[in-house]
Amino acid sequence: MTADVPILIIGGGIGGMTAALALARAGCTAHIVERSPEFGEIGAGIQLAPNALRILDGLGVLPELAELAVHLRHLVLMHAETGRHLTTVDFGEPFERRYGYPYTVMHRGDLLTVLHQACRADDRITLEASRDVTELSDDGGTARVRFADGASYECGAVVGADGLWSTARTLISADRPVCQEFVAYRGALPARDDAMPTGGNGVPAGPDDEIIWIGPGKHLVQYPIRRGELVNQVAVFGSGSYSREAELTDRWGTPAELDQAFAPCCDPVRAGVALISRDRRWVMYDREPLDNWTTGRITLLGDAAHPMVQYLAQGACQAIEDAGCLARQFTRYDGDPTKAFASYQAERIPRTALIQRSARIWGQIWHDDGSVIPLLRDRILARRGPDDYTDLDWLYQDQTEAS
Ligand SMILES: Cc1cc2nc3c(=O)[nH]c(=O)nc-3n(C[C@H](O)[C@H](O)[C@H](O)COP(=O)(O)OP(=O)(O)OC[C@H]3O[C@@H](n4cnc5c(N)ncnc54)[C@H](O)[C@@H]3O)c2cc1C
Repeated sequence: MTADVPILIIGGGIGGMTAALALARAGCTAHIVERSPEFGEIGAGIQLAPNALRILDGLGVLPELAELAVHLRHLVLMHAETGRHLTTVDFGEPFERRYGYPYTVMHRGDLLTVLHQACRADDRITLEASRDVTELSDDGGTARVRFADGASYECGAVVGADGLWSTARTLISADRPVCQEFVAYRGALPARDDAMPTGGNGVPAGPDDEIIWIGPGKHLVQYPIRRGELVNQVAVFGSGSYSREAELTDRWGTPAELDQAFAPCCDPVRAGVALISRDRRWVMYDREPLDNWTTGRITLLGDAAHPMVQYLAQGACQAIEDAGCLARQFTRYDGDPTKAFASYQAERIPRTALIQRSARIWGQIWHDDGSVIPLLRDRILARRGPDDYTDLDWLYQDQTEAS
């Protein structure tokens, strides 16, 4: 089977679907192929900062998202072991005035559902599930994509939005994901008093707040999702039993290590961790930034292009920014993919590389087990006021205005 596809998007995740929507809104025709039998996401939460909401607003999906999301009031940073309050970021009126949007958290499944419905409602977008891309090539005039079942498509342009283990990226780089030797256990559970330490136990946080508990070699993130009906928790820790040989097995970063890592923590943290499902864990990977994402008519987007550790909560936000930028470049170059891709990566690589590197550093600052860095960190954090956004501007401000 062959088909002519103007723009093929590999991967129906947050990046792929947002890219299809952005390109369609710019007048292009896009076809999404997704390996899984369904377009969906696992049952955990996702944080969407103003830089992502700005793009999603332009695509017209904010009202649907707002119905299912929670607009946070504060981010409260606490010490996981001592239970000491470190700092608070006010996400209220001064934040919205500065960045134009609230800080939003939601269920990943809800986000994917809204994006999927918006894609299906747009005549310029078609979607196919159970389509596993195994091979790509570019002959200068067209790009060819082959599937596991032997079918192939000839495409005017291809966007590889196929995630951390991207097949499209193998055409551009021989690198592999870098294991950070940390794992996450995460999940959403019904909001109950014992699930979210709100206000009690000396924790200065309410039901619409996110709490991040940081400490040596670990952290726990807690926030409400789905209109506050569920609480999302992510417990992350460095594993002492990692080895290169065991990397792709589940012999390290085990549930027993999770309990051991959080054993020295204060009561609210241990109570939260005790409620997290042990069924599945996520290994923390990123990659070194690339200085090129494109070959001919094929480019990369989202985690395929710039996977990062999640400590700045920007992986999906950056995929969404990529989508907005790509569509702008298609408009600017009247649908010429090679010109659009060159301009897209020139704009996006410096920013995403900085965020990839900063996310690693932010993790080191959170997890440091020495005496100097935590002391300095805590003093700097204690000095800032809740509405001091100096260190957030570079992430959340409008990049098109800034450039
Ligand atoms: C614990 C954790 C917490 C996080 N929290 C946040 C957060 O709060 N905010 C934030 O912005 N980011 C967060 N992230 C990062 C975020 O999840 C990712 O950056 C984002 O999901 C990337 O989206 P994507 O569409 O690029 O890739 P993916 O979500 O990985 O989607 C890729 C899609 O491509 C499909 N695919 C793969 N290979 C093929 C193939 N060969 N053929 C066809 N289809 C294929 C996959 O099935 C998948 O559907 C977090 C990550 C982790 C691990």
